[in-house]
Amino acid sequence: GVRLEATNKIVLDLEKLYDAAGEDLAYVARYARAIQQQRGDYNGRVLSIRADDLRALAIVYDISPSGLIERLTEAGVLVADPRAFFAS
Ligand code: C2E
Ligand code: C2E
Ligand code: C2E
Repeated sequence: GVRLEATNKIVLDLEKLYDAAGEDLAYVARYARAIQQQRGDYNGRVLSIRADDLRALAIVYDISPSGLIERLTEAGVLVADPRAFFAS
């Protein structure tokens, strides 16, 4: 069936994020834990987050939202395509 592009959806790899959380991404990790708690979404390997929340997090890091996406990409904690992620 017809499906909207998922490419601009922000999906975090939680295992990688929580492993990397010692350093630069500690606030992202803490935020992700809070979102998991609010949703009751505890068993996921990935977490889709709101664009609004990414914007708020970017303010914490004093960079642009696209700058934060770049940083997350470099740290390898973003999932480009969650379906491909589970197929692999
Ligand atoms: P809420 O914002 O009033 O949303 C109520 C319910 O609407 C959510 O229950 C979810 O089932 C649905 N919902 C709202 N926005 C979206 C969306 O963009 N996509 C999808 N798929 N569903 C949406 P849920 O998930 O149990 O969350 C309960 C409450 O926890 C939310 O109430 C909100 O206050 C908070 N919350 C959950 N996830 C987030 C998040 O990623 N960011 C923020 N800022 N708050 C969140
Ligand atoms: P998708 O968004 O491409 O997500 C693919 C799979 O990644 C999901 O399979 C799920 O296993 C995982 N995933 C993505 N985001 C999260 C997350 O925030 N928490 C957790 N625990 N897992 C996540 P799933 O659940 O079988 O969903 C298949 C497709 O169904 C999704 O593809 C999406 O297109 C749609 N879908 C599922 N739940 C929702 C929803 O609450 N809102 C909307 N709009 N679509 C949904
Ligand atoms: P999604 O569920 O595929 O939703 C895509 C976009 O549709 C959201 O982007 C938001 O702009 C809009 N949307 C969907 N449901 C609602 C709703 O109930 N209320 C409002 N005001 N807008 C809605 P956004 O916010 O960037 O979120 C991206 C993804 O993060 C969502 O994709 C969903 O997978 C996840 N997400 C966001 N908020 C929640 C939430 O409260 N609960 C859960 N379970 N997932 C959420």
